[in-house]
Amino acid sequence: MERRKPSGIFDTESAGTSLSSPKSLPDFQRVFPNDQACLTYLCAARFPKGFLCPYCGWTGEPYRFQTRPDMLRCRSCRRDTRLTAGTIMQKSKVPLCTWFWGAFLVTSLTPGMSALQFQKMLGIKRYETAFNMLHKLRTATVRPERDPIGGEWPVEVDETYIGGATQGEGRGRHHKTLVAGIVEVRPRKKAPGPDPNLPSGQRPQHHGGHGRSFIAGRLRLQVIPNRKQETLEPLVLANVQPGTETRTDGWTGYDNLRNFGYRHIAVSIQGDQAKTDEHLPMIHIVFGNLDAWLLGTHHGVSSKHLQGYLNEFVFRFNRRFWPMVAFDSVLKIAAHTEAPTYAGLYQGT
Ligand SMILES: [Zn+2]
Repeated sequence: MERRKPSGIFDTESAGTSLSSPKSLPDFQRVFPNDQACLTYLCAARFPKGFLCPYCGWTGEPYRFQTRPDMLRCRSCRRDTRLTAGTIMQKSKVPLCTWFWGAFLVTSLTPGMSALQFQKMLGIKRYETAFNMLHKLRTATVRPERDPIGGEWPVEVDETYIGGATQGEGRGRHHKTLVAGIVEVRPRKKAPGPDPNLPSGQRPQHHGGHGRSFIAGRLRLQVIPNRKQETLEPLVLANVQPGTETRTDGWTGYDNLRNFGYRHIAVSIQGDQAKTDEHLPMIHIVFGNLDAWLLGTHHGVSSKHLQGYLNEFVFRFNRRFWPMVAFDSVLKIAAHTEAPTYAGLYQGT
């Protein structure tokens, strides 16, 4: 549970910097100033190589209609394709750019936003409309976080204390919350590659990965009540694919992982910084970044709300190489890929 300062690896690649590639709502609004810009984005997402009729396979420039701008009509079979079909905007009377701005707010700025704030910020007339939009957007963010990580990549697992400084209560941890973290370790050269949030499909080839250059892959963070085996074990089982090389310190809470089919590699660290750097470097960089983010951006958070902030951190962290994937995922735009697995990812509740 040793801590170290965020290293240079992350200064350029993670949480603080590349997460937010439009950096503000005005920035974002310059990119998507009106419904037409949003339609162009939808069209490019759906048909990256130009229009292809889903009914007859005809390619070319379709008919367009000023009164129904999200509709494309095939010049061969004359059937209509709606650009919003299958997205969260389908059949909604709310303007496209309002949806886009809302998705941007939800994925990048204010996680604890109320429906009332959301309504005010976007200038939506009816509270119910804002409430329903926000609910749809939030629901869409949950699912991809549930797929187990690891598999062909090793994971590092450790715990840390998050929280305010101890004042006048003697030694030890006071008002601090215990958080467990699990992170994938990937060879740097292979990243970013395809979206790692996809549960299956194309993935970069992995050749051992025992070099000097690694990056953090997908991340999970969970508030936990204690460090007991009955707490840590289910956490690993729920979040890490069986068979994964699972690196931990020598804590007894992890002793039984091998019996669940994990390739468990435990190294007794005992506060030794060099051993931490050697065996569990990634998760400690993540903890350092998390600390900096909670203190710097949010000026500390209460333990009651910590899990919500952890979710947001994880959501952004897991998408930091693919900023628009987060945005696409909440709008349910199956963008940048034609792989059926991508659509499958967002099915169900
Ligand atoms: Zn057609």
